[in-house]
Amino acid sequence: MTVQSHAAPQASTTLPCHDPATLQSLGEGAIHDHAEVVRRVEHGRRLQPAWAKTSFAERRKVLRSLLDIILERHDQICEVAARDSGKTLTDAALGEVFPVCEKIRYLLEHGEKDLQPERRASGFLKHKMAQVEYHPLGVVGVIAPWNFPFHNLFCPVLPALFAGNAVVAKVSEHTTWSADALLEVFHEALRRHGHDPDLVQVVTGYGATGEALVRSGVDKVFFTGSPPTGSKVMRAASDSLTPVVLELGGKDPMIVCDDADLDHAVEQAMLGVFTACGQMCVGAERIYVFDEVYDDFVARAVARVDALRQGAPLEQPEGEAVDVGAMTMPAQLDKLEALIQDAVDKGAHLLVGGHRREELGGQFFAPTVLVNVDHSMRITQEEQFGPIMVILRVQDEEDAIRLAADCPYGLGSSVFSRDVKRAERIASRVRAGMTVVNDYGLAYMIQALPFGGVGKSGFGRINGREGLRACCYTKAVVTDRVTLGGGVSVYPIVAGTYPLVRSAIGMIYGRGLGAKARAALQAARSVAEVAKARKAFRQRGKH
Ligand code: NAD
Repeated sequence: MTVQSHAAPQASTTLPCHDPATLQSLGEGAIHDHAEVVRRVEHGRRLQPAWAKTSFAERRKVLRSLLDIILERHDQICEVAARDSGKTLTDAALGEVFPVCEKIRYLLEHGEKDLQPERRASGFLKHKMAQVEYHPLGVVGVIAPWNFPFHNLFCPVLPALFAGNAVVAKVSEHTTWSADALLEVFHEALRRHGHDPDLVQVVTGYGATGEALVRSGVDKVFFTGSPPTGSKVMRAASDSLTPVVLELGGKDPMIVCDDADLDHAVEQAMLGVFTACGQMCVGAERIYVFDEVYDDFVARAVARVDALRQGAPLEQPEGEAVDVGAMTMPAQLDKLEALIQDAVDKGAHLLVGGHRREELGGQFFAPTVLVNVDHSMRITQEEQFGPIMVILRVQDEEDAIRLAADCPYGLGSSVFSRDVKRAERIASRVRAGMTVVNDYGLAYMIQALPFGGVGKSGFGRINGREGLRACCYTKAVVTDRVTLGGGVSVYPIVAGTYPLVRSAIGMIYGRGLGAKARAALQAARSVAEVAKARKAFRQRGKH
């Protein structure tokens, strides 16, 4: 895969790109200004009507080819994503390629069904037919963070495109280098079937470019990022009443009961904490372990974390590998150190790691285990987005549920117990957008499920039927089941009109046959009264 130039015609200046694992320069990316963003949105708007006319079968062909191309270029995609974000190839395969492939499979199998018009009951209007239709919005704006450069671009673009929209996506300034190469995967699929590749466009730059996209006239914005930026996006979108979906951060609780399979729970905690070096919105950032198994869990976790190998994933000698890569964003290192310092100052114990690793030559933070943590510490409230296993001791179910709720975020969660009923009981009381029993993170791999949060984790849903329909506007349509002719005639309002409406309401909603019959009698009288009054009205009009 060749990485194309970032040169863009109207770019006012450029931003630097570097490999977070080696600090080597990767060149520069364009900064697109407001005028260029608007130009691209308008270009997308011109292309969209033709795409919206394509059949679902045609869109499936494009997605099927896209899946083929992803599989053909699997290694290149993972290498580009790893180079730009500092993750391992395995993290890229698991966290970037795998969910995108599953999303495409879901759309191929269920997408058309999800967007079919849906019959609704027509209530007392038995002669009418009611249905909901899902129509493409037009041009959808996507604003993405840096943690999964391939996935963060593809995941929101796929349903938007399948639903018949054009898309303009703003990628993160921290992973701009990979954007052209990854976008080319989409373009190749569109070109193979004779469609304009610019149905999916990317803009690059800092926050101002993101704000320009929000203010560009797009029909909806799918934003994934931090809560403070989410607020800014919402504020800017409110000026033009542009709808937004906000996928913000998470601080997921993992509850490990005293009867849990500890080997399995520790394994899942390793995945939840160290995948992508902990830079995941659904990272297991708070692990609540029951008192009876706490020491055992901690001992097993320490042994596992101690053994993790860290380094620049793409610089290892042939046949060797590392388990954990680098931090994509340099500022994360300061943040992680500050959170750990605050916790240690308040009594937490560092059992492994807890510091940056400059000797590795990149933006590395050591895999860390922090225990003796309590809720007075910032690390239980603020998203860490790093490789820190935070373990808290809890006494029982109530304690675990209370502490899990003591956090402004509500994205994912998990509960481990051999007693499935018990696990389900606890899971149902955790306030979160997703809960998984006896596993970590699988709610994301089941693409039929909606994905999103509550509280500070945002609102709106991606994935599943909900996410696909969110790429459409819904239209309520009423047609004739039986053509009766005529319709409700209200004007001119005369003496019997009001009693007629009142008795019609009584006929429909009155309790019991007696009430309905009395209302019907009154309605018949009112009909006669209205007819007489209208006749008199018309005659008065002639004089
Ligand atoms: P961020 O909020 O700093 O930036 C996200 C994107 O918004 C970037 O492309 C950035 O350039 C752009 N942006 C910045 N200011 C803007 C503005 N005023 N208007 C419009 N766009 C603007 O987030 P980040 O640091 O890139 O990513 C990390 C965050 O993303 C974490 O909080 C993480 O939890 C969250 N995240 C959430 C999910 C999810 O699905 N819920 C998934 C991945 C990451």
